[in-house]
Amino acid sequence: MTAGDGGRFPTELPRREFIKLCLTATAMMGLPLSMHGRVASTVQSSARPAVIWLHFQECTGCSESLLRSSHPSVSSLILDLISLDYHETLMAGAGAQAEQTLRESMAANRGKYLLVIEGAIPKAQNGIFCKVGGKTALELIREVAPGAAAVLCIGTCSSFGGIQSVGVNPTGAVGVKDLVTDKPIINIPGCPPNPYNFLSTVLYYLTFKRLPELDAMGRPKFAYGRKIHEHCERRPHFDAGRFAQAYGDAGHAQGHCLYKLGCKGPATYANCSVQRFNDVGVWPVSIGHPCIGCTEPDILFKLPIAEKVQIHDPTPFDSYAPANLKEKGKGPDPVTTGVVGLAAGALIGAGIMLAKKLPNSAPAQTGETQHHEPAE
Ligand code: SF4
Repeated sequence: MTAGDGGRFPTELPRREFIKLCLTATAMMGLPLSMHGRVASTVQSSARPAVIWLHFQECTGCSESLLRSSHPSVSSLILDLISLDYHETLMAGAGAQAEQTLRESMAANRGKYLLVIEGAIPKAQNGIFCKVGGKTALELIREVAPGAAAVLCIGTCSSFGGIQSVGVNPTGAVGVKDLVTDKPIINIPGCPPNPYNFLSTVLYYLTFKRLPELDAMGRPKFAYGRKIHEHCERRPHFDAGRFAQAYGDAGHAQGHCLYKLGCKGPATYANCSVQRFNDVGVWPVSIGHPCIGCTEPDILFKLPIAEKVQIHDPTPFDSYAPANLKEKGKGPDPVTTGVVGLAAGALIGAGIMLAKKLPNSAPAQTGETQHHEPAE
């Protein structure tokens, strides 16, 4: 039996797999699980929205991670959920035939199609650094964006400019929000972003006919509303002061916290520590590499990997299981935090210097506490 039994949905996914994906996406959107039936029936009954997917300055890693997941059901569902009318990497047509398809889809679906953009847009020298079909990325975005219902920026490059925009930025690379100001824009950053975040955003749009709630950076709050650090499996080690001090040392081998190796999890809003990647439960921190803050425009490629970020929440939430105090190291605990709080006035000067290293945006979460960095 397939998910298509009795409905429009043409996927070859087994129904159990389909319902499981809808349940996962429902949970990710922060909806009651009882809503999964509505999500599933929406998928089965709605007309597939036309999607035009443009590639600019990027590595195609976002498309690759979406399509080459170890478990193909997410990509299958995404590709069955939408009518992917134009995607330079995937479409069979090429040259004039492909350009014709783009023009026809734009005309037939004007005002209704979703425009997905992967990659930054170079503005310098009238955008000559990126051309597709003889047109610059600048020309293409000005041609295609006006007819879109909304623009989905997949990946950090289209969301915020990405690596192309760092430093001297010779091509003048920018994210979509710097060019398109009269359309709803949803940023799904990450290098690459989790395919589930893209799937859930599209599902939310189809189910409720509106965009999900976004944070100050245009990211869906259901996926980017919390810091990685809040749900990291190494967090009990952070709370107990057990840190890896060097790659390959005893702490690293025992799975201790990676903060002192430069983990950006305490300043990075994303759901990697919960949703993970490739349906096998891994993400960088789980295999021993610090988070590099790829969803944060002021961290990725701007702070060196080994540089430590500022800590906003040195103590765990009340709902956390207590850390194993018998093995406690020299990390933060409530008493230390209080002492540091009393000394905060004396540290204002140093705090100003640290603040310069932080993202410009204000933390989106409540309950932030005084800044405190674990003892070395
Ligand atoms: Fe996990 Fe990094 Fe936070 Fe340590 S600092 S608990 S490794 S997110």
